[in-house]
Amino acid sequence: MSNNKFKPNESAHPETLALHGGDYRSDPTTTAVAVPIYQTTSYQFNDTEHAANLFALKDFGNIYSRIMNPTLDVLEKRIAALEGGVGALALSSGQSASAISVQNLARAGDNIVCSTDVYGGTFNLFSNTLKDQGIEVRFADPSDPENFRKLTDDNTRAYYGESLPNPKLKVFPIKEVADIGKEFNIPLIIDNTSAPVICKPIEHGAAIVIHSLTKFIGGHGTSIGGIIIDSGKFDWSKDPKRSPTLNEPDNSYHGAVWTEATKPLGPIAYIIRARVVLLRDIGSSLSPFNAFQIIQGLETLSLRIERHCENAAKVADYLSNHNKVDKIIYAGKAEGVAAERSEKYLSGGYGALIGFEVKSGKEGGQKFIENLSMLYHVANIGDSRSLAIHPASTTHSQLSESDMKAAGVNPNYIRLSIGLEHIDDILSDISNALDSI
Ligand code: PLP
Repeated sequence: MSNNKFKPNESAHPETLALHGGDYRSDPTTTAVAVPIYQTTSYQFNDTEHAANLFALKDFGNIYSRIMNPTLDVLEKRIAALEGGVGALALSSGQSASAISVQNLARAGDNIVCSTDVYGGTFNLFSNTLKDQGIEVRFADPSDPENFRKLTDDNTRAYYGESLPNPKLKVFPIKEVADIGKEFNIPLIIDNTSAPVICKPIEHGAAIVIHSLTKFIGGHGTSIGGIIIDSGKFDWSKDPKRSPTLNEPDNSYHGAVWTEATKPLGPIAYIIRARVVLLRDIGSSLSPFNAFQIIQGLETLSLRIERHCENAAKVADYLSNHNKVDKIIYAGKAEGVAAERSEKYLSGGYGALIGFEVKSGKEGGQKFIENLSMLYHVANIGDSRSLAIHPASTTHSQLSESDMKAAGVNPNYIRLSIGLEHIDDILSDISNALDSI
């Protein structure tokens, strides 16, 4: 069948890639069009030579589902295509993606420089668990990209930031920090969880992109997952001392030097090592069933993001004209340099996330949440349903008032993740809750 050969080309749009990317047209055995759930642990080898070649990475193919699986393979290829990368590695959670993205470059005694504006779970992982493992994470305020340079030394292995971090919702200076990194041959890792489709970190110089698939990409609040995407554009061999994990013989893989071993396969040293060393050893694999669920979300991602952004823009307009609202925090209503960064790095919308501060303080914030009836009160973002939380009494309640302030959370701050309900219903729920305070 000739149309079984269809493959989206280089200029295919995100909507098309999400449906047709991933080298998958139909199942080769059954001709099933939906990506099947390959619920298997292992794969039969053709013969001993085939098995040996797979283990030696001379042939690409399936060995064992902790390390690779055909359902995950479609998801990985589709998201790599969407982000403009050469390869990707799906994992059991966004947390695992953040951890492995760093552990693939930094070992005990090394450091990375990370934006102060990152998800609380990332902050904990970096400032406690990685620290206990000997990897120092230095935190830089991204409002001045030069802060990354100031914290760099010979042992710095990566820069790390979030494209659209909440609660501050100030877009990260991707190109500015990537350019500083280029001077030192340091790669920039960007967590693009809050801005899929509308932000393309690789186009602005990021070497690696990660996502929590749990949020907008899965989109329906059903499955936890994460992914790392390799741009294939970072030259890991240019300064071998900067990237020792990819340039020194790897004792765990017959002394392989990853930049050398992957030369015949393309610029995939980073993502191959993440898979065959870290995923092999740590084992945080995504289940095929969750990969299937996330593929269902991915297929409508662009359409959903469009509506998320459209609805959020209307909510932001509504809130900025409301007499009980003191301040609005939204990438589409930023000011000064932050506004320039919103325009430079986001296109097609400003995301689904909005923060706002009510005039009636912490009590008003809590009361607002209690009086919502349609919006869910949950510690999550990126669901197709609209969500709300009052960070000062929940996610940030353990912080001192000054630490809370530094994180961008005032006692009267409310975070919304605007979903896909009809805008009139969303506004009506918000309006009723504001009337009650
Ligand atoms: N990165 C960001 C920006 C997040 O918001 C989250 C979760 O909230 C994560 C990473 C971690 O993802 P997961 O919950 O899938 O482990």
